[in-house]
Amino acid sequence: MRIVLVGPPGAGKGTQAAFLAKNLSIPHISTGDLFRANISQGTELGKQAKAFMDAGDLVPDEVTIGMAKDRMEQPDAAGGFLLDGFPRNVSQAEALDVMLQAEGMKLDAVLDLEVEEDEVVKRIAGRRICRNDSSHVFHVTYAPPKAEGVCDTCGGELYQRGDDSEATVRNRLEVYHTQTEPIIDYYKAQGLLVTIPALGEVSDVTKRAMDALKK
Ligand code: AMP
Repeated sequence: MRIVLVGPPGAGKGTQAAFLAKNLSIPHISTGDLFRANISQGTELGKQAKAFMDAGDLVPDEVTIGMAKDRMEQPDAAGGFLLDGFPRNVSQAEALDVMLQAEGMKLDAVLDLEVEEDEVVKRIAGRRICRNDSSHVFHVTYAPPKAEGVCDTCGGELYQRGDDSEATVRNRLEVYHTQTEPIIDYYKAQGLLVTIPALGEVSDVTKRAMDALKK
Protein backbone atom coordinates (compact mmCIF):
# COMPACT_ATOMS: atom_id res chain seq x y z
CA MET A 1 0.00 0.00 0.00
CA ARG A 2 1.04 3.57 -0.69
CA ILE A 3 -0.47 5.90 1.84
CA VAL A 4 -0.14 9.58 2.66
CA LEU A 5 -0.89 10.84 6.15
CA VAL A 6 -2.06 14.44 6.51
CA GLY A 7 -3.20 16.56 9.43
CA PRO A 8 -2.08 19.63 11.35
CA PRO A 9 1.07 19.63 13.48
CA GLY A 10 0.18 17.84 16.72
CA ALA A 11 -2.51 15.63 15.15
CA GLY A 12 -0.43 12.60 16.07
CA LYS A 13 0.83 11.80 12.58
CA GLY A 14 4.19 10.50 13.78
CA THR A 15 2.67 8.35 16.51
CA GLN A 16 -0.02 6.89 14.25
CA ALA A 17 2.38 6.44 11.35
CA ALA A 18 4.64 4.24 13.45
CA PHE A 19 1.76 1.90 14.42
CA LEU A 20 0.15 1.88 10.98
CA ALA A 21 3.43 1.20 9.19
CA LYS A 22 4.08 -1.72 11.54
CA ASN A 23 0.55 -3.14 11.06
CA LEU A 24 0.81 -2.80 7.29
CA SER A 25 4.48 -3.92 7.06
CA ILE A 26 5.55 -0.86 5.09
CA PRO A 27 8.25 1.70 5.92
CA HIS A 28 7.29 4.92 7.69
CA ILE A 29 8.80 7.80 5.74
CA SER A 30 8.80 11.12 7.60
CA THR A 31 10.39 14.07 5.82
CA GLY A 32 10.59 15.89 9.19
CA ASP A 33 12.61 12.97 10.61
CA LEU A 34 14.84 12.93 7.51
CA PHE A 35 15.54 16.65 7.93
CA ARG A 36 16.23 16.25 11.66
CA ALA A 37 18.63 13.37 10.93
CA ASN A 38 20.45 15.51 8.36
CA ILE A 39 20.71 18.38 10.85
CA SER A 40 22.14 16.19 13.59
CA GLN A 41 24.64 14.70 11.12
CA GLY A 42 25.63 18.19 9.98
CA THR A 43 25.02 17.49 6.26
CA GLU A 44 24.70 20.18 3.60
CA LEU A 45 21.00 19.32 3.25
CA GLY A 46 20.56 19.74 6.99
CA LYS A 47 22.21 23.16 6.83
CA GLN A 48 19.84 24.20 4.04
CA ALA A 49 16.78 23.04 5.99
CA LYS A 50 17.57 24.24 9.50
CA ALA A 51 16.56 27.92 9.36
CA PHE A 52 13.25 27.10 7.70
CA MET A 53 12.46 24.44 10.28
CA ASP A 54 13.42 26.66 13.21
CA ALA A 55 10.99 29.29 11.93
CA GLY A 56 8.24 26.73 11.32
CA ASP A 57 8.30 27.42 7.57
CA LEU A 58 8.37 24.82 4.83
CA VAL A 59 11.77 23.84 3.51
CA PRO A 60 11.85 24.79 -0.21
CA ASP A 61 10.51 22.21 -2.66
CA GLU A 62 13.84 21.98 -4.52
CA VAL A 63 15.41 20.48 -1.39
CA THR A 64 12.41 18.54 -0.09
CA ILE A 65 11.17 16.76 -3.20
CA GLY A 66 14.59 15.33 -4.10
CA MET A 67 15.13 14.09 -0.56
CA ALA A 68 11.69 12.44 -0.44
CA LYS A 69 12.22 10.86 -3.86
CA ASP A 70 15.60 9.40 -2.84
CA ARG A 71 14.01 7.84 0.22
CA MET A 72 11.04 6.40 -1.72
CA GLU A 73 13.48 4.81 -4.17
CA GLN A 74 15.18 2.75 -1.45
CA PRO A 75 14.58 -1.01 -1.82
CA ASP A 76 12.51 -1.28 1.37
CA ALA A 77 9.91 1.08 -0.12
CA ALA A 78 9.44 -0.90 -3.35
CA GLY A 79 6.31 -2.63 -2.04
CA GLY A 80 4.73 0.44 -0.50
CA PHE A 81 5.23 3.16 2.10
CA LEU A 82 3.48 5.42 4.53
CA LEU A 83 4.35 9.07 3.96
CA ASP A 84 4.22 11.31 7.04
CA GLY A 85 4.70 15.05 6.42
CA PHE A 86 5.06 14.77 2.66
CA PRO A 87 3.52 16.18 0.51
CA ARG A 88 2.92 19.44 2.35
CA ASN A 89 1.75 21.65 -0.52
CA VAL A 90 0.07 21.16 -3.88
CA SER A 91 3.27 21.33 -5.92
CA GLN A 92 4.78 18.52 -3.81
CA ALA A 93 1.56 16.51 -4.30
CA GLU A 94 1.83 17.02 -8.06
CA ALA A 95 5.50 16.04 -8.02
CA LEU A 96 4.60 12.87 -6.09
CA ASP A 97 1.95 11.97 -8.67
CA VAL A 98 4.44 12.43 -11.50
CA MET A 99 7.04 10.36 -9.64
CA LEU A 100 4.60 7.49 -9.05
CA GLN A 101 3.13 7.62 -12.56
CA ALA A 102 6.61 7.29 -14.04
CA GLU A 103 6.87 3.94 -12.23
CA GLY A 104 3.30 2.88 -13.11
CA MET A 105 2.28 3.27 -9.47
CA LYS A 106 -0.33 5.30 -7.64
CA LEU A 107 -1.43 6.16 -4.12
CA ASP A 108 -4.03 3.92 -2.46
CA ALA A 109 -5.30 6.34 0.18
CA VAL A 110 -4.73 9.66 1.90
CA LEU A 111 -5.57 9.51 5.57
CA ASP A 112 -6.53 12.85 7.09
CA LEU A 113 -6.25 13.08 10.89
CA GLU A 114 -8.77 15.66 12.05
CA VAL A 115 -8.24 17.54 15.30
CA GLU A 116 -9.33 20.93 16.63
CA GLU A 117 -6.86 23.78 16.77
CA ASP A 118 -7.06 24.34 20.56
CA GLU A 119 -6.27 20.69 21.11
CA VAL A 120 -3.33 20.86 18.73
CA VAL A 121 -1.73 23.74 20.61
CA LYS A 122 -2.09 21.89 23.95
CA ARG A 123 -0.67 18.70 22.47
CA ILE A 124 2.37 20.36 20.97
CA ALA A 125 3.19 22.55 23.96
CA GLY A 126 3.50 19.49 26.22
CA ARG A 127 5.00 17.12 23.68
CA ARG A 128 8.29 15.41 24.53
CA ILE A 129 10.12 13.20 22.05
CA CYS A 130 12.78 10.53 22.46
CA ARG A 131 16.19 11.32 20.97
CA ASN A 132 16.56 7.69 19.85
CA ASP A 133 13.22 7.33 18.04
CA SER A 134 10.79 10.11 17.17
CA SER A 135 7.85 7.69 17.31
CA HIS A 136 8.41 7.39 21.07
CA VAL A 137 6.28 10.40 21.97
CA PHE A 138 5.14 11.53 25.43
CA HIS A 139 3.19 14.44 26.84
CA VAL A 140 3.83 16.14 30.16
CA THR A 141 0.16 15.82 31.21
CA TYR A 142 -1.62 13.52 28.72
CA ALA A 143 1.01 10.78 28.53
CA PRO A 144 3.76 11.43 31.06
CA PRO A 145 6.76 9.07 31.08
CA LYS A 146 7.29 7.02 34.27
CA ALA A 147 10.50 8.91 35.01
CA GLU A 148 10.71 12.55 34.00
CA GLY A 149 12.80 13.10 30.90
CA VAL A 150 13.35 9.38 30.22
CA CYS A 151 11.68 7.35 27.45
CA ASP A 152 9.59 4.44 28.84
CA THR A 153 10.17 2.41 25.70
CA CYS A 154 13.96 2.55 25.29
CA GLY A 155 15.40 4.67 28.12
CA GLY A 156 16.43 7.43 25.70
CA GLU A 157 16.51 11.10 26.64
CA LEU A 158 13.25 13.00 26.08
CA TYR A 159 13.42 16.51 24.66
CA GLN A 160 11.16 19.24 23.39
CA ARG A 161 11.55 19.95 19.68
CA GLY A 162 12.88 23.47 19.08
CA ASP A 163 10.01 24.13 16.69
CA ASP A 164 7.43 23.10 19.31
CA SER A 165 7.72 26.51 21.05
CA GLU A 166 4.48 28.48 21.10
CA ALA A 167 5.52 31.17 18.61
CA THR A 168 6.77 28.62 16.09
CA VAL A 169 3.68 26.46 16.54
CA ARG A 170 1.46 29.40 15.59
CA ASN A 171 3.42 29.84 12.37
CA ARG A 172 3.36 26.09 11.65
CA LEU A 173 -0.45 26.14 11.99
CA GLU A 174 -0.67 29.14 9.68
CA VAL A 175 1.57 27.36 7.17
CA TYR A 176 -0.62 24.28 7.50
CA HIS A 177 -3.80 26.24 6.74
CA THR A 178 -2.43 28.20 3.82
CA GLN A 179 -0.09 25.69 2.16
CA THR A 180 -0.94 22.17 3.29
CA GLU A 181 -4.74 22.18 3.63
CA PRO A 182 -5.21 22.70 -0.13
CA ILE A 183 -3.83 19.18 -0.70
CA ILE A 184 -6.93 17.85 1.09
CA ASP A 185 -9.13 19.10 -1.77
CA TYR A 186 -6.54 17.92 -4.29
CA TYR A 187 -6.80 14.36 -2.97
CA LYS A 188 -10.57 14.57 -2.41
CA ALA A 189 -10.93 15.29 -6.13
CA GLN A 190 -8.94 12.10 -6.82
CA GLY A 191 -11.28 10.09 -4.57
CA LEU A 192 -8.40 9.17 -2.24
CA LEU A 193 -9.28 11.07 0.92
CA VAL A 194 -10.26 9.24 4.11
CA THR A 195 -10.91 11.51 7.11
CA ILE A 196 -10.98 10.22 10.68
CA PRO A 197 -11.25 12.03 14.03
CA ALA A 198 -7.87 11.90 15.76
CA LEU A 199 -9.18 12.38 19.30
CA GLY A 200 -9.05 9.82 22.09
CA GLU A 201 -6.66 7.01 22.97
CA VAL A 202 -3.78 6.39 20.57
CA SER A 203 -4.87 2.75 20.10
CA ASP A 204 -8.46 3.81 19.30
CA VAL A 205 -7.23 6.20 16.63
CA THR A 206 -5.02 3.46 15.14
CA LYS A 207 -8.01 1.10 15.02
CA ARG A 208 -10.17 3.78 13.42
CA ALA A 209 -7.44 4.39 10.85
CA MET A 210 -6.98 0.68 10.07
CA ASP A 211 -10.76 0.22 9.68
CA ALA A 212 -10.96 3.24 7.37
CA LEU A 213 -8.03 2.01 5.26
CA LYS A 214 -9.52 -1.48 4.89
CA LYS A 215 -12.60 0.04 3.34
P1 AMP B 1 7.38 17.49 10.98
O1 AMP B 1 8.31 16.64 11.76
O2 AMP B 1 6.63 16.72 9.91
O3 AMP B 1 6.45 18.30 11.85
O4 AMP B 1 8.28 18.55 10.17
C1 AMP B 1 9.08 19.48 10.84
C2 AMP B 1 9.52 20.59 9.90
O5 AMP B 1 10.27 20.03 8.82
C3 AMP B 1 8.39 21.35 9.23
O6 AMP B 1 7.86 22.38 10.06
C4 AMP B 1 9.13 21.90 8.00
O7 AMP B 1 9.96 22.97 8.34
C5 AMP B 1 10.02 20.73 7.61
N1 AMP B 1 9.34 19.80 6.68
C6 AMP B 1 8.96 18.51 6.91
N2 AMP B 1 8.38 17.98 5.83
C7 AMP B 1 8.35 18.96 4.89
C8 AMP B 1 7.85 19.05 3.56
N3 AMP B 1 7.23 18.02 2.97
N4 AMP B 1 8.02 20.22 2.89
C9 AMP B 1 8.65 21.26 3.46
N5 AMP B 1 9.12 21.26 4.71
C10 AMP B 1 8.98 20.12 5.43
